[in-house]
Amino acid sequence: MSETLLRVTNLHKSYGSRQAVQAVSFQLEQGQTLGLIGPNGAGKSTTVSIICGLLAPDQGDVLVGGQRVEPSNHAAKRMMGFVPQDLALYDNLSARENLHIFGALYGLGGSTLKRRCTEVLDLVQLSDRLTDKPATFSGGMKRRLNIAAALLHTPRLLILDEPTVGVDPQSRNAIFDSLEALKRQGCALIYTSHYMEEVERLADHIVIIDHGKVIADESPAALYQRLPAKAALRLTPQAPVPQAVLQSLCQLPGVTEVATEGQDLLIGLNNAELAQDVLLWLTQQGCRANQFSTARTSLEAIFLTLTGRALRDA
Ligand code: ADP
Repeated sequence: MSETLLRVTNLHKSYGSRQAVQAVSFQLEQGQTLGLIGPNGAGKSTTVSIICGLLAPDQGDVLVGGQRVEPSNHAAKRMMGFVPQDLALYDNLSARENLHIFGALYGLGGSTLKRRCTEVLDLVQLSDRLTDKPATFSGGMKRRLNIAAALLHTPRLLILDEPTVGVDPQSRNAIFDSLEALKRQGCALIYTSHYMEEVERLADHIVIIDHGKVIADESPAALYQRLPAKAALRLTPQAPVPQAVLQSLCQLPGVTEVATEGQDLLIGLNNAELAQDVLLWLTQQGCRANQFSTARTSLEAIFLTLTGRALRDA
């Protein structure tokens, strides 16, 4: 049975009169990945900064591996690696020299540091850039070097704050590959993002935060259960669909909602296989479609369901 690695209890933090985080609690099991998702300004960075011990909460506490995160507890901090949003690299030193500085901060040296530098650069797919300076790197490569630096001391928990913001698609994929490899090695991860599809790819557990409060805390599968529709059928009818047909359509088994968008008809379905039956039924009512498409509903819609707002423009 997996063991709880991180326990975050009742965190509160205000900046002046602004309450950034309110009563935030969640936990993370050993080796699992937690996606912390919310729109910009939701309180994600504040939460992860408190977890890492970079910011003191006004109230609440954080336990990692049974150790309380507080300024004097170095054992707690050593169990974690943090990749902040703002890059922390010396642009004019080589990748290796940068890693040596970070390694020294963690008390690493000699053959251990050399071995770890090789291992972490391999993990982030930058082995061939060991002697190059970050000044010559793309934004994504710099981010990968930052991830490597946070891994030198072999943390049990790696915390990444929006690691793909401003990153090119190639580096984004490399980052995901690295995180998947880390997961296989048993490292627990916390990953903040405002992109649900990124979090979905990695997370065993998703915590949604909005206006500083946790509004959902469950597995992706459980969140899918909350979606009002599992799939959507969009079609452009050849002629306007009569009101009576629309009303009967709403009553069909498995149809969760019917809406119009311009000329298109949007039909929410309990499962994607129902799309064929619905199209056939519409044809039988004399309603033919010029074109149609089906899509599985994404978890992105969950935020809309929970708050009435879309995640990106919240
Ligand atoms: P997120 O990471 O989800 O974008 P943050 O934790 O950065 O959210 O911010 C949460 C709230 O706290 C926002 O309203 C933000 O403007 C505010 N905030 C964050 N940092 C500071 C700060 N240093 N001083 C004042 N307000 C801050």
